[in-house]
Amino acid sequence: MIELKFKDQVVIVTGSSSGIGRACALHFGNNGAHVVVNYSSNAAAGQEVVDEIRANGGSAVLVKADVSKEDEVKFLFAETVNQFGRVDVLVSNAGLQKDAPFLEMTLEQWQKVIDVNLTGQFLTCREAAKQFIAQQQPVTETNHSELAIGKIVLMSSVHDVIPWAGHVNYAASKGGVMMFMKSISQELAPYKIRVNSVSPGAIKTPINQEVWSDPDKYQSLLHLIPYKRIGTAQDVAKAVAWLASDDSDYVNGETLYIDGGMTLYPEFADNG
Ligand code: NAD
Repeated sequence: MIELKFKDQVVIVTGSSSGIGRACALHFGNNGAHVVVNYSSNAAAGQEVVDEIRANGGSAVLVKADVSKEDEVKFLFAETVNQFGRVDVLVSNAGLQKDAPFLEMTLEQWQKVIDVNLTGQFLTCREAAKQFIAQQQPVTETNHSELAIGKIVLMSSVHDVIPWAGHVNYAASKGGVMMFMKSISQELAPYKIRVNSVSPGAIKTPINQEVWSDPDKYQSLLHLIPYKRIGTAQDVAKAVAWLASDDSDYVNGETLYIDGGMTLYPEFADNG
């Protein structure tokens, strides 16, 4: 019989109506979790993910919340506890791009990306950590697990280390995610809460459709990827699941790059 890695665990995936979040929600759903599919605007797409999880025999509910709004994040967690009684895993995935040359970037474009990509991580992670601590069972003779009481996986990007002209709001937000992740993992480790990030390279999702749907831009993109293929949302989902599982119980404060080698300075592959 196949072991379901997340049997009866409650997993929230923010921004899971699309792309990487969707793949994560499906992966957890297919592995026994109760999944909270979060969306901010596209209810129909979120419902499709819920329906697919249920059609595969899994358990899922749909909750609307904008991760950059404190009251909506509180609602997301309250609704999760209301539906499933607890939270075991947060995948803080929601993110967006509002690209512009630096000299033309508006404050609105800057602020929106920081609000969703960075403040959204603050609000969701803080709520998750509070919930993990509140629901913790007292240690007794029969309950003395050494494993984490809760796991958080943040969605960062290779642009937490690769500068990105024309996308400075996005790169700044993801650089911020890295230091935020490391700092809270240091602070939350004594509670036995594990916090890690995944940093995808180029993954085929709606966020970068403009690049992979254009054959010339796609060829240029491949020059940046030593492994010579674009990533899939499933490539990322599998890594997220490992970081959220007890198999990685001694991994804390790490960033896992899922990028086909994009961070390996590919320009130097032919001797620079
Ligand atoms: P996507 O556009 O398909 O998905 C983004 C999701 O975030 C959508 O479901 C969207 O509705 C949701 N979202 C946006 N604003 C939100 C808000 N305020 N509240 C709640 N949800 C919100 O793109 P994706 O590629 O799947 O991106 C997911 C994450 O992966 C993002 O954090 C992105 O920065 C990161 N990422 C993607 C790539 C890539 O190549 N696709 C690479 C590195 C990092």
